[in-house]
Amino acid sequence: MIKKRIELAKLTTIHLKGQVDIKIIESLNDFSKLPESFTIFGNCSNLLVKNSNRDFYKLSDKFSYVRVEENTLVCGASLKMSVLMRFLIENSISSLEFMAGVPATIGGAVFMNAGAFFESVADKILYVKVFCASQGIVVLEKNRLHFGYRFSNLDNCVVIESGFLYNRVDKNFIKEKIANNIKTRLAKAHLTNTFGSVFKNPLGDYAGRLIEESGLKGLVKNSAKISDKHANYILGSKQTDINDVLFLIGKAKEMVFKNFGIELEEEVKIV
Ligand SMILES: Cc1cc2nc3c(=O)[nH]c(=O)nc-3n(C[C@H](O)[C@H](O)[C@H](O)COP(=O)(O)OP(=O)(O)OC[C@H]3O[C@@H](n4cnc5c(N)ncnc54)[C@H](O)[C@@H]3O)c2cc1C
Repeated sequence: MIKKRIELAKLTTIHLKGQVDIKIIESLNDFSKLPESFTIFGNCSNLLVKNSNRDFYKLSDKFSYVRVEENTLVCGASLKMSVLMRFLIENSISSLEFMAGVPATIGGAVFMNAGAFFESVADKILYVKVFCASQGIVVLEKNRLHFGYRFSNLDNCVVIESGFLYNRVDKNFIKEKIANNIKTRLAKAHLTNTFGSVFKNPLGDYAGRLIEESGLKGLVKNSAKISDKHANYILGSKQTDINDVLFLIGKAKEMVFKNFGIELEEEVKIV
């Protein structure tokens, strides 16, 4: 495994200030070298690094592949959604296009059960190949997987590959669907300089509405700001101080609880 010191500003989509050491997993043999406790990074699009002394790992580009095998769309865990979208268009395939514009990897999206437009990754999953400290490398079929709202039962496991359902469709149809999804996303929120939703939506409500009605839209704390466009988004700067982000998260939780008696739960992973 290669060890690298990387600027968090390059690694995280909100461009955090500071540096971190990460080890790059190059092959399946490397999994046997993982310690008992570790954190695996995807594209760090829903991740804040608070304690840079932990054991951090990332899958190399060797796990970034996509192919069709009979009835399954097979994706390596470090495949980025943007690359997958191009593959869907080129091959006239419909599958995870609701994820267009989300800067995730397949591994992060499966672990988080990411979703949009009333669909989630779990709806399409056929199997997940994982490394789990307790079992080694195993293929888990759908009946051994549990998914919920931004939840999977894959804690302490590394997603290595996942197989998804797909349909053959007209190329222009899929191209247009992907373009429309990105357009809708941009109209409602942001594509860059953020980590997506800060909080999970409470049952029957929207975290964004609660934060907006608490008067926090546009609140600035030095290098970070609660978006004026979508209150459940925090925007960063070129070097975002995590303490500024954590301040805004704390403020939103405090004010929403004070005004509505609702405890917001972070969607973003703080490690
Ligand atoms: C502009 C923008 C828009 C977004 N829109 C959406 C949206 O519409 N819907 C949505 O659900 N999310 C959205 N997000 C949030 C984010 O993209 C998703 O949560 C995504 O699934 C995170 O993927 P990642 O590869 O970046 O994972 P990371 O952020 O790197 O990690 C997130 C979690 O997944 C774990 N993880 C990462 N890779 C693996 C792996 N291989 N195996 C096991 N665990 C792993 C990490 O340890 C961490 O706990 C958005 C983010 C941005 C920046």
